[in-house]
Amino acid sequence: MSSAFVIDPPAVISLPVTGDSRRFAVNRIYCVGRNYADHAREMGHDPDREPPFFFMKPANSIVTDGQGMAYPNLSSDVHHEIEMVVAIGKGGANIPADKALDHVYGYGVGLDMTRRDLQGEAKKMGRPWDTGKAFDQSAPCGEITPVSQCGHPAKGAVKLLVNGEVRQEGDLNQLIWNVPDTIAYLSTLFTLEPGDLIFSGTPAGVGPVKKGDVLEGSVAGLPNLKTKII
Ligand code: MN
Repeated sequence: MSSAFVIDPPAVISLPVTGDSRRFAVNRIYCVGRNYADHAREMGHDPDREPPFFFMKPANSIVTDGQGMAYPNLSSDVHHEIEMVVAIGKGGANIPADKALDHVYGYGVGLDMTRRDLQGEAKKMGRPWDTGKAFDQSAPCGEITPVSQCGHPAKGAVKLLVNGEVRQEGDLNQLIWNVPDTIAYLSTLFTLEPGDLIFSGTPAGVGPVKKGDVLEGSVAGLPNLKTKII
């Protein structure tokens, strides 16, 4: 029988899995805004007075480790944001925080690349952030390490080197909304599904990249993520 699609269905977007030849199929990408106090302050906000908020990127904005990321159009101020990525293995809605970690398949290292100029404009105009956050290749992401190998990282360095120099450095223990609380809250807004990724927020030190820059991100206990801006 021929397939019933009038056009070819889109390819499954996926990430490699540490120690496994099979891959992690990516469903949706949720990102937490301002989840480290020092980054919230550098962006001009008071971290003590804000509940968590979320935005999304399409799954096909993923760039896998070692691939180059094309500098996007219509921006002259593209910023790096290094983040730990939570990979959801089991879906659910209204997940209680004390059960939230049972829904995690594994963890990885990601970059929430941002057209800061377009995001700034959107903020000023009260418009959505999509053009600033959800553009092509805006989500470089490393391999996913299963919980069976890395546990649930709750402390340890989150770091980004640009051309070998430290640009961002924080610690997972500085997350305002930790992983269980983030999953609990997010799952009240959306029914989480297997394959969803959650970019957990970035520490201070965000800044611009330029063509030719080599970005190397790390989160303690997880394989590094490397990409080059091309
Ligand atoms: Mn971010």
